[in-house]
Amino acid sequence: MSGPIEVEVLSNVPKELYIGGRWQPAADASEFPVVDPSTESILCKVADAQVSDAFCALDAADRAQASWSTSSPSERQRILYSAFERLHERIEDLALLMTLEMGKPLAESRNEVRYAADFFRWFAGEAVRIRGGYEMAPDGQSRSIITRTPVGPCLLVTPWNFPLAMGARKIAPALAAGCTVVVKPAEQTPLSMLALASILSDLGTPFGVVNVLPTSRPVEVVGALMSDARLKKLSFTGSTQVGKKLLAQAASGVLRTSMELGGNAPFIVLDDADLAAATDGAMIAKMRNGGEACTAVNRFIVHESVIAEFGRRISERMSAYVVGRGTEDKVTAGPLIDAATRDKVAELVADAVAGGAQLIGEVSAVPTSGYFCSPKTLVNVPRTARLLHEEIFGPVAALIPVSSDREAVDFANATEYGLAAYVYSRDQQRSLSIADRLQVGMVGINQGMVSNVAAPFGGVKSSGLGREGGAEGINEYLETKYYAVANTVQAARDDK
Ligand code: NAP
Ligand code: MG
Repeated sequence: MSGPIEVEVLSNVPKELYIGGRWQPAADASEFPVVDPSTESILCKVADAQVSDAFCALDAADRAQASWSTSSPSERQRILYSAFERLHERIEDLALLMTLEMGKPLAESRNEVRYAADFFRWFAGEAVRIRGGYEMAPDGQSRSIITRTPVGPCLLVTPWNFPLAMGARKIAPALAAGCTVVVKPAEQTPLSMLALASILSDLGTPFGVVNVLPTSRPVEVVGALMSDARLKKLSFTGSTQVGKKLLAQAASGVLRTSMELGGNAPFIVLDDADLAAATDGAMIAKMRNGGEACTAVNRFIVHESVIAEFGRRISERMSAYVVGRGTEDKVTAGPLIDAATRDKVAELVADAVAGGAQLIGEVSAVPTSGYFCSPKTLVNVPRTARLLHEEIFGPVAALIPVSSDREAVDFANATEYGLAAYVYSRDQQRSLSIADRLQVGMVGINQGMVSNVAAPFGGVKSSGLGREGGAEGINEYLETKYYAVANTVQAARDDK
């Protein structure tokens, strides 16, 4: 099943905990398996961090914090920029590792390595541009010196769908700001993060600045770290359900949090849209990462005058996907992450069809072993269907007709989520007016992709708090402090 390159890539990746600059087994020597979702076979086992290991990692992060926070910005910049370069040099083996543990096609894994690398380049730049201020108080009696200081040791908890990029989007700004980190990668995809830790280690990142804890006990490990007063920040990317629990836990210690949570993205196609462009954009917005993205389209909200033609185009493209193991060149859609996710997608489709939705196309050739799911297109989806209200997180395009812009906006906003949305219209003014009314953090206008390292990524409502990337990204890891300085210049003038 595995070729020689796969065996080599798997044997080269470290499989232990990375704590204080050392690779080590779990305190009780336990391990957990990492599964290839396209074969259901075990790829390897990794060390399974216990609560005591978590405290060792926080000890290391806390010890390293003082010297890291006073290291020169240009030294932090050097490490981050070197990480950008090294990720590019290692793109092939990192992409293969990601495809093995997560399933996405190699071309998409390569794109994710580039995207992750870009965060290191972007924040290498930001490391030397942390701004403060110097201002006169309105009464002229004092001056304010405003400084920005690192918040301190951070816990970074990441999901499985982008095993490298979601970590990079947190690690790079944290390090740029002068914070040390303990990273808890998703249980299903720890290998990409372990590979990144070994790269950062090779580049001379000081011991304890980055610590990585794969674990099968997220509740205990994360809970223990959050209850320790030395931890100063939690940055979480994952489901809204878990995010809400962590926010409640953060309350007792008034722990700073950043939350990148779930979505239910609408993709609005107006009657004057360029349907060819909308179809291209739709495929990116729906099918990037096989539909397993927080920004993935959950609801295609289409003007009734163009829905038949748009549906035909979407169905044709959805049905042309080649489903299989992501390591094979011809494959354009990999498996879902696990059996539960595959079964949930099937359940959501069955519920929509039972409510009256029509299946107008699907891929017929799908491997029987592995967690594969056939891409499908549904039209006339009833508004009560569960898949319009819950994250599908799979390759299912669901189309709903609307008869006006107002109806499109109202339906788009009728969800607790507010991460990404997309609008297609040839009339820029009309698109902007819709974008203004959408309750989301990001809107793609005539484009199906919103992710961009230089832009602020994040959501409103139950989709999260805070922004990652862009000029805002580093702020999540900085505290503002100000000195009120008596205005001696004024006093000196009074002396004369
Ligand atoms: P998840 O189940 O919420 O898990 C996310 C992370 O939290 C994993 O590392 C997980 O560990 C850990 N975790 C789970 N339960 C926990 C608990 N009770 N206490 C502490 N930690 C806990 O999410 P997922 O299924 O991995 O990822 C998919 C979700 O992430 C989707 O909802 C998606 O929309 C969202 N997402 C959001 C963004 C964004 O930027 N807004 C980006 C990507 C994904 P285990 O792996 O061991 O469960
Ligand atoms: Mg999970």
